[in-house]
Amino acid sequence: MRKLQVLGLLALLPLLGAASVLRTSDPVLEAGTPSAALTRALDTIEADEISADLHFLASDEMRGRDTPSQEQRIAARYIAARLERLGWKPGAQDGWFWDYELPTSSLDTESSFLRAERGGESLELQVGVDYAFHPRSMSESETLAEAVVFAGELTEDEVEGLDLEGRWVLCRSSADVGYRKISRTIREHDAEGVIVLSGSDVDGEAMQVRVASWGAQVLEPRLTRGRSNRRAPAFLYMSDGGARKLLGLAGLEEPKLGDVLEVSLHEKRSVTKDATAGLENVIGIWPGRDEELSKELIILSAHYDHVGTDDQGEVFNGADDNGSGTVGLLAVAESLAAYGPMRRSVMLIWVSGEEKGLLGSKAWTQDPYLPGGLKPVLNINIDMIGRNAPDSLLVTPTKEHDAYNGLTRLAESLAPEEGFPQLGDADAYWGRSDHANFSRNMEIPVAFLFSDIHEDYHKITDTPDKVDCDKVRRVARLVVRMLHGLQTDALDL
Ligand SMILES: [Zn+2]
Repeated sequence: MRKLQVLGLLALLPLLGAASVLRTSDPVLEAGTPSAALTRALDTIEADEISADLHFLASDEMRGRDTPSQEQRIAARYIAARLERLGWKPGAQDGWFWDYELPTSSLDTESSFLRAERGGESLELQVGVDYAFHPRSMSESETLAEAVVFAGELTEDEVEGLDLEGRWVLCRSSADVGYRKISRTIREHDAEGVIVLSGSDVDGEAMQVRVASWGAQVLEPRLTRGRSNRRAPAFLYMSDGGARKLLGLAGLEEPKLGDVLEVSLHEKRSVTKDATAGLENVIGIWPGRDEELSKELIILSAHYDHVGTDDQGEVFNGADDNGSGTVGLLAVAESLAAYGPMRRSVMLIWVSGEEKGLLGSKAWTQDPYLPGGLKPVLNINIDMIGRNAPDSLLVTPTKEHDAYNGLTRLAESLAPEEGFPQLGDADAYWGRSDHANFSRNMEIPVAFLFSDIHEDYHKITDTPDKVDCDKVRRVARLVVRMLHGLQTDALDL
């Protein structure tokens, strides 16, 4: 699930009624078409096998499957090996991996600088030694300031009496004042930029490591996003050495709240856009058996990337997001191998770049490779399907949504068979995962199954032990039931 940078969204989400009782069902006695193939297929889906896959893909060693990263490529090969073993057919031009390119940018340290002047004196601070940018403010820019106001630790009390509008602000960081709080305060007060005195832990060497990791491969979308938003304030960190030089020039070694450093600043960030990163979606096809209907392609999707590691190297395991959907699709792959060919053809696509802005699904849906002229007819997307109450599952589009369709109706009718008495409302997530691109770019009916966000969402605590693998099992079974229900002569979508 792609993170939305909106505060308070969590609070707006309706809570699901969770009082309903989990229903046990016998697949042989299910409502709808009884079929030996379906029963066989459903029986292959087991929670302990799902757990085994998940504990590999969301392990610390996979380092958060960032886009792009070596570990992401390993995850892709794990998926491909499974498909191959199960007898699936590769779904890209040259095999299992559908490649797309993403322009990347890097920081040009030679032509980036921070120059400070006072009277006739000036000094040039060196990026990576004296100062660094926060990566979120890494858009190309050039800013000037006439003076800098010292605002303590930017607490509300401290900021209250200060006029920061259009000015640069100098502040000290403390344990509970991070990037978010600082940038919010800076925006609220319409300040031009902020210089954070990071404290003695950020020496020159640590700063260089930081800049190298931020600057080496800054993905284009991050830059574009920075530009398209309201202009991000300049956000700089000072090393101890850089701070000493700047405060020395100002003649204010120990600034007090409200002190104004009478220095002018000229800051320039320069970015080179040249390299491209090769990224992969993993695609398998399960060819249909009906002479006519096999030309129609049912697409199931899940993103297999997550957000990597934090500045300290802590791993975002992304077990629910979206390890759960990734292994859920693997379970579907095994299930169809037991089912045998369906009347229609089925494609499983594991996309990358979701967390960076739905990039993998965007690239594919804008320029899909469709072997043998297969015609996409629908998409079912699963993203985060293993947390929260065992009997709660959300769907979008609901009947309140313009795009409400036969896929949602089918999911609603089959969900009780798998212990989800009633599907909740995920319409607030219509644009937040890959189904959005299938709907927008291919104009096919889509449905998105999702078990809602939770306290570990996009945190290092989204670990495999917290995922309800029995729930993942039941969602995978629901998807297989839907596939089975989507083999009628005409589709009611
Ligand atoms: Zn996510």
